[in-house]
Amino acid sequence: MTEIKKHSRFQTVIDPAAVDRVKQLVLVSQEIVITCHVSPDGDALGSSTALCMVLKSLGKKAHVVTADCPPKTLYFLPGLRDIVVATRQADRAHDLMKSADLIFCLDYNDPKRVDRLSDALLSSKARKVMIDHHLDPCIDVTVGISHPEISSTSALLYIFFWQAGWTRYINRSSAACIYTGMMTDTGNFSYNSNDPDLYLIIHDLLRKGIDKDNLYKLVMNTASESRLRIMGYGQYRMQLLPQHKAAVIMLSEEELKEFDYSKGDTEGLVNTPLAMPEIMYSVFLRKDADCVKVSMRSKETFPVNKICEEHFNGGGHINAAGGEFHGPLSEALQLLLEVIPTYDKYL
Ligand code: 5GP
Ligand code: MN
Repeated sequence: MTEIKKHSRFQTVIDPAAVDRVKQLVLVSQEIVITCHVSPDGDALGSSTALCMVLKSLGKKAHVVTADCPPKTLYFLPGLRDIVVATRQADRAHDLMKSADLIFCLDYNDPKRVDRLSDALLSSKARKVMIDHHLDPCIDVTVGISHPEISSTSALLYIFFWQAGWTRYINRSSAACIYTGMMTDTGNFSYNSNDPDLYLIIHDLLRKGIDKDNLYKLVMNTASESRLRIMGYGQYRMQLLPQHKAAVIMLSEEELKEFDYSKGDTEGLVNTPLAMPEIMYSVFLRKDADCVKVSMRSKETFPVNKICEEHFNGGGHINAAGGEFHGPLSEALQLLLEVIPTYDKYL
């Protein structure tokens, strides 16, 4: 009884009319595709695979389609084996998008964020449902559930399941996926994690049988030799701009090659300079095959999303944002050093 009372606060988090509409759409759809953002992280994959499993428990045909590969650290996620990755199975990914009558957009708010799948998404006749926690959605959907105040799409998805009366379809595997998303988007509940309701969700997931300590070990405390060495090297080579309270870490293609870099190896590197009390924000520039990937993190009210929006074709949250630069790494650094002083007003 008390449990139901405690959870009753979930009842109106999402507009109940939107929850009903999504339930109706699911019930009348036969071929459901779930998409998430490119370079999928724990929240994108956790929410997508959890939704896929729940939809299958409801008797639906559902597939997760991603633009590119998941990081190796998340290979253990239940359901990950079944996802369709467009870089590996382009035809199948496009066929699924084309024949879908319902497409979920999870953990992104802009069609550009599905990268090579964005044309397929935009041209699809399927009805679309967005469930997301990024600011300022700009995506044309049938139903949009946008809650930037919630720290992960996975937590928002759990609340959706609760409001829909679908928590009984969550099993230990889908619970583990939801927990992984909640954990990764809050740095194992070390930021954006003061909402007491998060812990009601964790309570429920533990009751579903998840081993949260083991999930922590698998996601946050398991690393390859190349990751450990690259993380150390990146921090060793970090540049500080004390007058702007900024730190910059940069890795060139040659350096990545030398360290036998594979995707995911630098996850979290951008956060490390924030351990210094005098540093307000941190920038990581990594030369990828097609662009320089830009990642930024900050403390308090320093808006790194503004820098990414205004100069690096990107966006994100106030304290965690990203974008890209098309050109050599040296030019990305040059631009960064030019723009950094113009943000001193936010320090
Ligand atoms: P990360 O630094 O982990 O790649 O991304 C942190 C956050 O920044 C993401 O959750 C996302 O909101 C945002 N972000 C990262 N890359 C991009 C990008 O290329 N474009 C936009 N609009 N946002 C991004
Ligand atoms: Mn997220």
